[in-house]
Amino acid sequence: MIEAFGVPHTEVAMILVDSQAVDFSHRLREQERVSVYPHFAALAPDAALPLSLQPPGPTVFVADAHMGRLARDLRMLGFDVLYRNDFADEEIVRLAVQEERIVLTRDRDLLMRKTIARGCYVYPTASDAQLLEVMRRYQLAGQARPLSRCLDCNGLLEAVPKDAVEQQLPAHSAACQNDFRRCNACGHVYWNGSHAARMRKRIANLLEVACANMLAT
Ligand SMILES: [Zn+2]
Repeated sequence: MIEAFGVPHTEVAMILVDSQAVDFSHRLREQERVSVYPHFAALAPDAALPLSLQPPGPTVFVADAHMGRLARDLRMLGFDVLYRNDFADEEIVRLAVQEERIVLTRDRDLLMRKTIARGCYVYPTASDAQLLEVMRRYQLAGQARPLSRCLDCNGLLEAVPKDAVEQQLPAHSAACQNDFRRCNACGHVYWNGSHAARMRKRIANLLEVACANMLAT
């Protein structure tokens, strides 16, 4: 059977043995020539080859305890990301298996676990680069629903009338805003203040880059 030479199986997009595509169950024989390919976007347009050895599934994520910023950034774009800063590896594995979630991590040992079907080793360290890398790999640009999800807890936001949340707001916010949304899980209230304006600008810039990346592949 082909083991991925110390590389987590989740990072292998394609294996060729003597120019034929195979999966991890292939038994190597002497003299066979093996090529292992990562998830380069440039591989995707060749429809004659398998796009990925990862099975298909919903584009939902579980982020490890060191991926808090990435989790919030993905939630900002509307993606479903479970995250806690005290997540144990066993809980991440359980969520990946039971809820078919893609594991986001920089922990190679975690991704080496056979029970994790889909995972992503997040190579960049800078926050924007991490977000763009995940968007590129899973072609997320067209699926973004910005500011539809709670950054704190991953709950969905619902529009609420001003009088329903007025008691929870600083006085100046209540006075000059009329568009309010509340998390259906933790109750956090969001509105269009200056912070939201900066976030919208950042989102617009990120989506512009993500779309350009998608067109370039
Ligand atoms: Zn919430």
